[in-house]
Amino acid sequence: MVKIVLDAGHGGTDSGAVGNGLLEKNLTLNIVKKIGDMLKDYEGVEVIYTRTDDRFIELSERATIANRAKADFFLSVHINAGGGTGFESYIYNGKVSSAAIAYQNVIHQEIMKSIGNVNDRGKKRANYAVLRETNMPAILTENLFIDSAGDAAKLKSEQFLLQVAHGHVEGIAKAFGLKKKATTLTQTKTSTTPAQEKLYRVQVGAFSDRKNAERLAEELKKKGYPTIIV
Ligand SMILES: [Zn+2]
Repeated sequence: MVKIVLDAGHGGTDSGAVGNGLLEKNLTLNIVKKIGDMLKDYEGVEVIYTRTDDRFIELSERATIANRAKADFFLSVHINAGGGTGFESYIYNGKVSSAAIAYQNVIHQEIMKSIGNVNDRGKKRANYAVLRETNMPAILTENLFIDSAGDAAKLKSEQFLLQVAHGHVEGIAKAFGLKKKATTLTQTKTSTTPAQEKLYRVQVGAFSDRKNAERLAEELKKKGYPTIIV
């Protein structure tokens, strides 16, 4: 079982960066929830959230949650500000394991692949509390600039946020060698149709969250399968 802590930056009285009608704390929670949902498609993953609603949590507490759970990986999601554009990722600038460096390489690369035409600001290192105080490999991502009009327009798109989440998930899956759960395939024979015209309905997946169903439906449509959501 791979234990992954998902940390949505800021929250509650700490809104994080603000700009173009957006609050960092809402975007980070949105992205982190999408990441958690997508990770449910993989076998052998346990997701632990530092927060799942709009509340304030101290930085040290976030690290403590991960340390207490003896997590295998800590991911903190943030939105940048201060004039600039694009994506960058961070690991601790002190002593880190070779695994932490390897995970940053693959996750950074998968995110850049997934988010399309976005400026790559590079793989960086910094003395951030959540990176310093966590006992396991930890990464912090800064997903575009809330105070850039161009970046903010992207951050306002649910589709773009799905791409951001998807990139994180692809990276984590590669880093930890996660395998997708087998999709359930049920065949229904319809007895009323003549033998030579038998129709088989193939059902792929059942989701409690409609968004996940829509995501899979989109994938199937792209591959040329006529798809309906029941
Ligand atoms: Zn932040």
